[in-house]
Amino acid sequence: MKRFFLTILILLLLAGGIIYLNKTRVVKKELLSISGTTMGTSYHIKLVPETEENIDSSTLKVKIDSRLSEIDQKMSTYKENSDISRFNRHVANEWMTISAETFTVIAMGQQVSKISDGAFDITVGKLVNLWGFGPAIHIEAIPDATTIQTLLSQLGYHKLELGQTPPALRKANKNIYLDLSAIAKGYAVDAIAKLLLENQINNFLVEIGGEIITHGEKRQHQPWVVGIESPLSQQRSIRKRLQLQNVAMATSGDYRNYFEEQGVRYSHTIDPATGYPIKHKLASVTVIANSCMSADALATAIMVMGPVKGLEFASQQQLAIFMLVKQDDQFIEKYSPAFVPYLKTPEE
Ligand code: FAD
Repeated sequence: MKRFFLTILILLLLAGGIIYLNKTRVVKKELLSISGTTMGTSYHIKLVPETEENIDSSTLKVKIDSRLSEIDQKMSTYKENSDISRFNRHVANEWMTISAETFTVIAMGQQVSKISDGAFDITVGKLVNLWGFGPAIHIEAIPDATTIQTLLSQLGYHKLELGQTPPALRKANKNIYLDLSAIAKGYAVDAIAKLLLENQINNFLVEIGGEIITHGEKRQHQPWVVGIESPLSQQRSIRKRLQLQNVAMATSGDYRNYFEEQGVRYSHTIDPATGYPIKHKLASVTVIANSCMSADALATAIMVMGPVKGLEFASQQQLAIFMLVKQDDQFIEKYSPAFVPYLKTPEE
C-alpha cells in the first residue's frame, strides 16, 4: 500500500514540475515583420505573437493587402472608380451614395475642418492638382493667380454635405473635387490595427507612409520605440525617439513632396484661405492621438496654421504635438504641454 502512495506522490511531483517548466519557460517570442506597398507608399508591420503558436504571416499578409486595397478602391483619387473619383465627376446639388467607411472618413475630415476653421479642407483637391501634387503628372510651375482665385471661390468644406441614411454626399459646386490624402492613410492604419486585434494579435506596430499606431509591447515591459524624422529632404535621420504605447502618431511636413522655384519652396500642403502652398517656417509637425485618422488630419491642419497658431490650437485642444521649425540653417523644437510625457528619450 505504501509503495502505491509513494508512486502517486512521485507522479504528482513530476506532473507539477512539467506544468511549472511550461509556465516559466520563457517563450522566445519572435518579432515578425510584414511589409508591402499601398496608396503610392509603403507599409511596415511589426508584431509579436502572444504565445508560441506560429502566426502564418503569408495568410495574414494576404488579409492585410486585401483590406488596404478595399480602402484604396474607395478613397483614392488615383483610382478611376473609387467613391471619391466618382463623386469628383458627379454633378452638383445631387446626392451620391458612398460606402459607410468613406462616410466615416469624410465625417471626421469635416469635423477637423470645423475645429481648425477650415485649415484642414478635403475640398482643396483641385488646388492640389493645379500645383502638381495630385494624380496627374507633376508640373513644377507656379499657376497663375486668376486660376487660383477662381478655384478658391468654388471650394470650401461648407459646400459639401453629408447624408446619413444611406451614407451619401452632395456638393454645392460641380468643381468641388475631394482629396483624402491627408486623412485616409491614417484611417488605413487604424483599419489594419483592428484587423490584427481581430486575429488575436495584441502586440504590434503598424506604419503606412510614416503614419503609425502601436498596441501592446515589443518585448516584456518594453514599449514600442518610434522615431520622428529630421525634416531634411536629402537624407533620412531621426531627430527624436519616443515610446508609444497604444496610441497613434502622424507627421506632416514640407520636406518630401515639394518643388522649388527661384529659391522658394512650394510644398504639397495648401492653405485653403489663400490657395497657395504654406509659406511659414514650420517644417514638420507630429501629432499623437488615439486614432491615426484624427492624428493624420490634425497634423495637416496644424501644418497649414503654422508654428504660432498651430501651437495655440494644440494647447486649446489639449493635443500632444511636436514641431520642428526652421531657424537659419537649423530646426528648433516646439511642443505642446500634452506632448511632455513623450519627451523622455527611451533607452534602446
Ligand atoms: P499629409 O501631410 O498627410 O497630406 C498632405 C496631402 O493632403 C497633400 O498631398 C494633398 O493631397 C492634401 N492636402 C494638401 N493641403 C490640404 C489641406 N489644407 N487640407 C486637406 N488636405 C490637404 N500617391 C501616389 O503617388 N500614387 C497612388 O497610387 C496613391 N494612392 C493613394 C490612395 C489613397 C487612398 C490615398 C489616401 C493617397 C494616395 N496617394 C497616392 C497619395 C500618397 O499616399 C500620400 O497621401 C500623399 O503623398 C500625402 O501623404 P503625406 O502623409 O505625405 O502628407
